[in-house]
Amino acid sequence: MPRTTVCGTIARGFSNYLVVHELGHIFDNQADQGGNQSITDALAGGMFTIQDQEFYWVMGHHTVVPCGPGRNAAPVGWSRGERGWGSGPSSIYASQGIDERCQNPTLPNFTDFQQNPPPHQVASGLTVLEASYQESAADMFLNWTYRIQMQGGFRNRTWKPNERDAEGYCNRPDGCDDNQTLNPPSSNRNSGDARFNWMNDFMQLTLIRLIPSLE
Ligand SMILES: [Zn+2]
Repeated sequence: MPRTTVCGTIARGFSNYLVVHELGHIFDNQADQGGNQSITDALAGGMFTIQDQEFYWVMGHHTVVPCGPGRNAAPVGWSRGERGWGSGPSSIYASQGIDERCQNPTLPNFTDFQQNPPPHQVASGLTVLEASYQESAADMFLNWTYRIQMQGGFRNRTWKPNERDAEGYCNRPDGCDDNQTLNPPSSNRNSGDARFNWMNDFMQLTLIRLIPSLE
């Protein structure tokens, strides 16, 4: 058990949300005992992806992404995504109107339910992608913890910089309704529910494994 938990600077302030995020790291560190899977291991897994109810990508590995006229497509990669978190957006981007997978985030945007979004300050020995898995794991734990108590967490909202409603692009503090007015038009996407369902399944299996008396 690590005696201290370090997660970048806490210039963003010390809050209940940050405490739960840090507890997420501790849980994650313990969950892979005996060669089992941590949240980080699951997110990094070769097949890992979360899709919404209409099979649009929410989080994880993604295929080639078209990035619009005059821009190269984004290659196959991995991203935490800008839909379904309890608050957002994750990051500040150089360009509105362009999918987050098509550009590098310029600054992290710290909000209640995204306590360490990209770009990350990388600790020694970690790659940027490894840091991204770990910080996304801690934020998934944070959102699940609040959502299961119905105190916040995962929501069916989008903060993608290329989606917009009548008020403009969705990468603003109130985001957009995930189920309306987006491109492509859709009616039942529910990205927050998709994140919750994945995480809830993972946590149930993991808690039963770690605490056999729960079974
Ligand atoms: Zn962290």
